[in-house]
Amino acid sequence: MAKIGMDYGHGGSDPGAVYSGRRESADVLRLGLAITDKLRAAGLTVGESRNGDTAVSLMQRSRLSNERADEYFLSIHRNAFRPETAKGAEVFVHPTASDDAVNLARSIQSALTAVGFVDRGVKRANFYVLRETRAPAVLLEVGFVDNSEDNDLFDREFDNIVSGVSQAVLTHIGQSGLHVNKPSLQADLEVLCQHGILQSPAYWEQNATTGQTVRGDYVAVLIQRIAAYLRNLEN
Ligand SMILES: [Zn+2]
Repeated sequence: MAKIGMDYGHGGSDPGAVYSGRRESADVLRLGLAITDKLRAAGLTVGESRNGDTAVSLMQRSRLSNERADEYFLSIHRNAFRPETAKGAEVFVHPTASDDAVNLARSIQSALTAVGFVDRGVKRANFYVLRETRAPAVLLEVGFVDNSEDNDLFDREFDNIVSGVSQAVLTHIGQSGLHVNKPSLQADLEVLCQHGILQSPAYWEQNATTGQTVRGDYVAVLIQRIAAYLRNLEN
């Protein structure tokens, strides 16, 4: 099962952004824990950099993820600028991020704008956890802590934010064909060719992999041939 690293920003002696008694560290812990619950309920293995109000260094956050060999890494934050001026959600990736990370960031950003956050877009930044974490990494800024409208939205739409972000991750994992490893894909394609089920292994090797797409009519032919082969075996 896919392994996800969940990183709830700040914590302990570092509250993150603070505005009229509201702490970023508490908001992102509450939100992150709820997303983690959803992902675990869907069968994913989730590792966390903290699960209470404790301080964790940036170095530890990335190191923990790298040690767990996460397949994706989500860092949850809330933004701040000047009281009651900026609002909206944005998702960051590293300047050298893979398409895989960018696509995940886009899906999550869509989920955040769908619940009502102003769309500040997917952005690139050289943040420590994005740079030092090996898994495709995204950093969410779920509205501004120093904006009352964003805080109202955060509280009112909390459940929808949780299910939207979780669904974006689950859908992305489904589409990205995780756990495909190249040598075994080649060996499997060879077997299918030997049995006349496939004729163009190069096409499948190139396209049946993370981040690529395969034509639906080709998949239909593949399914028909596998079914025909199995029926033959039964007879
Ligand atoms: Zn933060």
